[in-house]
Amino acid sequence: MRDYHVTVLSNKQVSNRYWHLIVDSSDLKEAIEPGQFFNIKSTDYQTYYPLLRRPFSIYRIKEDTLEFLYKAEGAGTKQLATYKPGQKISLLGPAGVSYSIPKNCKKILLLARGVGIATLAALAQKADQMNIEIYAILSARNKDDLLATKTIEKYCTKVYCVTEEDKTSDVEHVRRMIHDLIKTHHIDAAYTCGSRRLSMLLQKITKANGITSQVALEEYMACGMGVCYSCVCDIKRQGVMQTVKSCEDGPVFPLEEVIFE
Ligand SMILES: Cc1cc2nc3c(=O)[nH]c(=O)nc-3n(C[C@H](O)[C@H](O)[C@H](O)COP(=O)(O)OP(=O)(O)OC[C@H]3O[C@@H](n4cnc5c(N)ncnc54)[C@H](O)[C@@H]3O)c2cc1C
Repeated sequence: MRDYHVTVLSNKQVSNRYWHLIVDSSDLKEAIEPGQFFNIKSTDYQTYYPLLRRPFSIYRIKEDTLEFLYKAEGAGTKQLATYKPGQKISLLGPAGVSYSIPKNCKKILLLARGVGIATLAALAQKADQMNIEIYAILSARNKDDLLATKTIEKYCTKVYCVTEEDKTSDVEHVRRMIHDLIKTHHIDAAYTCGSRRLSMLLQKITKANGITSQVALEEYMACGMGVCYSCVCDIKRQGVMQTVKSCEDGPVFPLEEVIFE
């Protein structure tokens, strides 16, 4: 992990609430894996506000560029949205534990909600390079929030979209979809990000069906480097309860270990 001062190549609003940031990553020599994140500093250097960096998952990894999708909502992300091509920006990372794909894995299921779609898009990109069949369920409030569907469709065998707008995103409906996918295809591993509700659902189903699964948590992070303990969460590992830091020990965890309630 290092503090990289990279050049913004593009920073565009792609929907009502979401922005797409592309930076020049030609100076980054470290391996970057899906599920890892960068802590991006959007501080105004005159006022030093907001002081804290904001964590963002990697959305797309290319040879000389890195891409992020973010929701411009609070002080830090609104400030991030003001960055223009050519400006330098500070990225601290790559940080955290990445998703892992088991050996001999042939088919995977992705279950993403909202901005979690960005995180799983990077995994879809990697799985596609490994010739793995990918089935994805993408959930959002409305069609406008269904981020990166076209990108994900390029990598996946089949993508299913559900929204509140279409009244298709309720847990019962998603449960039936997952059961059908598991019945029809032999799913070797499942991955999720972006919703506690959906993570709990996937946890129950994968446990009952003996499918290995992982979740990327999005806990609030202040320092993002293991010092402040603001991002701690509880897990149960080999029968033992543990409190772990999601910035260092995660953000990706085996789904069966995470205690959501
Ligand atoms: C690993 C990870 C990956 C993420 N990936 C993405 C992504 O790809 N795209 C995306 O849109 N979002 C992502 N998020 C969420 C994103 O970081 C937040 O939406 C963003 O920090 C909000 O910043 P803001 O300026 O809009 O909001 P604000 O509310 O102004 O600020 C939020 C920030 O304040 C601090 N903070 C607030 N409350 C607390 C608290 N209780 N404890 C400690 N610190 C606190 C934290 O630094 C937090 O990042 C990710 C989060 C994590 C942890």
